[in-house]
Amino acid sequence: MSTVSAIAATSPTDPLTRTTITRRPTGAHDVRLDIHYVGICHSDIHTVRAEWGEVAYPLVPGHEIAGVVTEIGSEVTKFKVGDRVGVGCFVDSCRECAQCRAGEEQYCAAGMVATYNAVDRDGTTTQGGYSGAIVVDENYVLRIPDAIPLDKAAPLLCAGVTTFSPLRHWKAGEGTRVAVIGLGGLGHLAVKLAVAMGAEVTVLSQSLKKMEDGLRLGASDYRATSDRETFKALRGRFDLILNTVSANLDLDQYLGLLDIDGTLVELGMPEHPMSVAAGALIRGRRNLTGSLIGGIAETQEMLDFCAEHDVTPEIEVIEPDYVNEAYDRVLASDVRYRFVIDTSSLR
Ligand code: NAP
Ligand code: ZN
Ligand code: ZN
Repeated sequence: MSTVSAIAATSPTDPLTRTTITRRPTGAHDVRLDIHYVGICHSDIHTVRAEWGEVAYPLVPGHEIAGVVTEIGSEVTKFKVGDRVGVGCFVDSCRECAQCRAGEEQYCAAGMVATYNAVDRDGTTTQGGYSGAIVVDENYVLRIPDAIPLDKAAPLLCAGVTTFSPLRHWKAGEGTRVAVIGLGGLGHLAVKLAVAMGAEVTVLSQSLKKMEDGLRLGASDYRATSDRETFKALRGRFDLILNTVSANLDLDQYLGLLDIDGTLVELGMPEHPMSVAAGALIRGRRNLTGSLIGGIAETQEMLDFCAEHDVTPEIEVIEPDYVNEAYDRVLASDVRYRFVIDTSSLR
């Protein structure tokens, strides 16, 4: 066992504070890494605030982890000390079910072991990356390509793969008309990735405040959803819509923007249910679906794709003690476009 510094939530409402947590000894198949950077995902906030159900406090969030290997177990073959590595949203899965065997561990039939707020194989509660170091089985560790700096790699481990996976699954590319709802952490990477894949991309944001950024990221159109005209003008326009919004939306309105057989993929996970009128799906044979992060192999594919196509997030690097202000700013949609914690003071 070793002790590391961390930033933890102790209740749904109190500010996060500094604490220490223990990490298990590096087992035969484990990699221990010093965490250099960790992204702040809106999922951290939903979880900390108990919007998704029960939380085992104190909770150390963080599942966009980038760092450097400091120790490897005797049986480790994929990594060596000094390697630049990442850890995403899960640190284990059953490894036996059809999904695990297909490399889609995020849909593990037994339930993946999430990077924080989950029960690990040894019965302990997992604690995430707002901390100085972590020990993870090598099969759940990613290699960060040299072309991607560690601070910019961090958000790719969740926001990157969460948007890459549905773009691939629903075949975004040349000739596909994609809309991205919400220009936040996930949304801005969705724009960059879809553009890199060759798709024509429209941003649907609450206002035109970030239009210049959206167009610079490669979108060819940018519309305000606060303007009713947007929904008339873009009716039937898209093949694929990724909804990255963390709050409830009027889905019927957005379904109306799909062409026949088009697909709206729910990525945002708001606290409360959303309703859908049957007619919004029936007219135009439209699809409403969802997508959860991505598997380990696909996460590596995404990292390699980002290195090759020069896709990296726009980030604001912060000190650990700024985390509470950062949460407030994320909740106010005042983030351009991902906060990344420099964890050097936690090491
Ligand atoms: P984020 O950075 O806060 O971005 C969300 C964006 O949604 C905001 O920037 C804002 O964009 C828009 N928005 C926020 N409140 C809104 C409201 N009331 N009405 C309309 N638009 C609103 O969050 P994120 O980290 O990208 O995460 C987004 C969601 O995805 C969260 O619910 C998160 O839990 C979920 N998530 C899911 C997965 C998955 O596997 N499916 C993975 C990671 C995260 P504009 O200012 O441009 O309108
Ligand atoms: Zn996340
Ligand atoms: Zn499984």
